[in-house]
Amino acid sequence: MLEVRNLTKRYGGLSAVSEVTTTIEKGRIHAVIGPNGAGKTTFFNLISGAQRATAGSIVFEGQDVTGLRADQVARLGISRTFQTTSLFDMASVVDNLIVGHRLRTRSGLLDVLVNSPRLRREEALCRQKAREALDFVGLSHVANRMAGDISQEERKRVAFALAIATEPRLVLLDEPAGGVNPEETVGLADLIRKMVRHGLTVCLVEHKMDMIMSLADRITVLNYGEKIAEGTPAEIRANPAVIDAYLGSE
Ligand code: ATP
Repeated sequence: MLEVRNLTKRYGGLSAVSEVTTTIEKGRIHAVIGPNGAGKTTFFNLISGAQRATAGSIVFEGQDVTGLRADQVARLGISRTFQTTSLFDMASVVDNLIVGHRLRTRSGLLDVLVNSPRLRREEALCRQKAREALDFVGLSHVANRMAGDISQEERKRVAFALAIATEPRLVLLDEPAGGVNPEETVGLADLIRKMVRHGLTVCLVEHKMDMIMSLADRITVLNYGEKIAEGTPAEIRANPAVIDAYLGSE
């Protein structure tokens, strides 16, 4: 589904991502792990079009998406969540989803804010999609609540809803279980499995190793921007280079 070849992002002398080559298979859960600063978020930024690669290529479903803008990548079927879920706290959860949908699929802020007849026509459809997404992530009951009043775990679920509202085929989840308790982590892992059952492909960055080891079909390990290992959870757990760079310190 996604072919990444020699992907590189340099900041001056520092390579945040360095010649990473990997393939994300359709219908799978693919995890990217590694120590702090290993390049995981930058890797997501490059794939999702938030940042431009210094070198390398990204091919999604046979189409070269290298260098496309984030809104173009979103419209082609890749969406993402962020480590921190930014919401308009004084707006309802469902209104956050509607605005989030526009922000993700349009190129200019004016296009998002302007109250054009076309946007008003789209609004009803958008609202319906937002409600469907909230239902999918189990948040229908908080749809009309102010976003500032919901829990951290519910914010995480809103992030999932934002990501699926654009009807992607590949979803990149950046620390989907960051800041939630172990019981809630299990619930979020179940939600990720449900996404895959509904035909989505998932790539996630996460520090919670129990979650990754039970959830992922395949794991890519980054260290100082380089891919140091790739394989099944069992292979990764037994890999000396990974234990040395990352798992040993867990
Ligand atoms: P974490 O697990 O802490 O979120 P990460 O694996 O996601 O870390 P990145 O945030 O991708 O790592 O950062 C990779 C490297 O690139 C780090 O050394 C970071 O300091 C550097 N870096 C990231 N963004 C920039 C930037 N805009 N300018 C300069 N250096 C940057």
